[in-house]
Amino acid sequence: MENLLNIATMMICTSIITVFFAVGFTIHAVFRPEQPAVRWWAASMWLGTGAMILLAFRGIWPFWLAVGFGNGVTVAAYGLLWCGFRVFFGKDPNLGVALAGMLIWLGCLAGFDWVRSDVNNRIVLMATLLVAYALPIVVECWNGWKNEGLPTSLACGLFFITHALTYAVRIPLAFIHPAEDYLGTAWSPWFAFLTLEAFIHVLFTTISIIVLVKERAEVRFRVAAETDSLTGAPNRSHFVHSVERYLANKTEPFVFALMDLDNFKLINDRYGHLAGDQVLRAFAQILKAHLPRSSTFGRIGGEEFAMLIGGLEEQAAIGVLEAVRRATENLDPGTLAGVPRVTVSIGAVTSAGGLRAFDNLMAAADVALYAAKGQGRNQLCFYDPVHALKTVGEAETYAGTAGQQPSIIPERLAATI
Ligand code: GH3
Ligand code: MG
Ligand code: MG
Repeated sequence: MENLLNIATMMICTSIITVFFAVGFTIHAVFRPEQPAVRWWAASMWLGTGAMILLAFRGIWPFWLAVGFGNGVTVAAYGLLWCGFRVFFGKDPNLGVALAGMLIWLGCLAGFDWVRSDVNNRIVLMATLLVAYALPIVVECWNGWKNEGLPTSLACGLFFITHALTYAVRIPLAFIHPAEDYLGTAWSPWFAFLTLEAFIHVLFTTISIIVLVKERAEVRFRVAAETDSLTGAPNRSHFVHSVERYLANKTEPFVFALMDLDNFKLINDRYGHLAGDQVLRAFAQILKAHLPRSSTFGRIGGEEFAMLIGGLEEQAAIGVLEAVRRATENLDPGTLAGVPRVTVSIGAVTSAGGLRAFDNLMAAADVALYAAKGQGRNQLCFYDPVHALKTVGEAETYAGTAGQQPSIIPERLAATI
């Protein structure tokens, strides 16, 4: 391997990319302070740069400076790298633990002659410390993957496992192929491989950090673009998109419902716009809490929300909508910024009528909602597809009944549809 790879060249390349990314991360940390993990990673890269300079002068500079601090700073760089991953995945950094490895290294070097004077013992100690920092990084990446699902966190975790394994293998190798003194520094046939691994390690770590930061930014922008900022509910365009995707891919029965808070203008007028906003947030929470699997909801606009309930028997879907209506009228005034009572009217349409275009479902549910309002509010009404053909406009489906008046049936009759 050492005939194939020139160790000095590899080390120079590793140093160059470490400095390159140290500068890049520092600039990013200055101009994008909202991402504090990058500060830790920038500091880690600078420590890595310093460590490489110190280690490059092995045999030239004093042992304590080159080997002692060179390796100590390397371990500290790993500690800060680990802190960066903790911060990135939402945990607190732990500077004490991050620097403990360096202190252990320096303490062993100062306190034990068998560490100071035997390069293989030093290799075993360093390898143990590096594995001890690499494995917690694996854990952070794995937890991050489970919580957030960023693909690169999984790739990064797998990479740090192989990195830890490479260093773990160094421990038995120190006994099987002990390093020897060669031109004043330690040498072993494994050093060429390890230098290559270090090069790949720095390259992969830095690139995956950049990708991780970008992946998270992309997810946040996408979520922001799909979410209503007041209530946290999916916004209209996202809801429409979800419904259209559902209708295109699923053939199971569904219920589509349009919900409108009753006399909401009065709430705004009497209790203020902020109270109105609080009511909207509370109602969105109710919808979220009652949302069955395979279903989706969204804020259509103003005080109007919609829900598509998929994969449930019709009676069960009616049960969900009734539960939403009851939960709304039973909302605790304590959570409503002084508003004593809120009710909602719901207009719904089932898939039994054959409507599958979003606009038609909206129009049909709107007809039912209009009836719910007209019949006294705070109730659930279903659209009757057979009699309300003209209103919806999918004429060919019900050509035989075209021209008849829309007919709205209250919830208790819904089962007859
Ligand atoms: P109905 O029972 O017939 O639905 O009567 P309503 O008063 O609820 O209906 P209307 O359409 O007259 O009023 C809706 C009100 O919702 C008017 C508008 O100011 C208010 N509104 C729309 N968006 C928001 C919002 O984001 N926050 C607050 N506080 N009010 C909003
Ligand atoms: Mg309205
Ligand atoms: Mg209203």
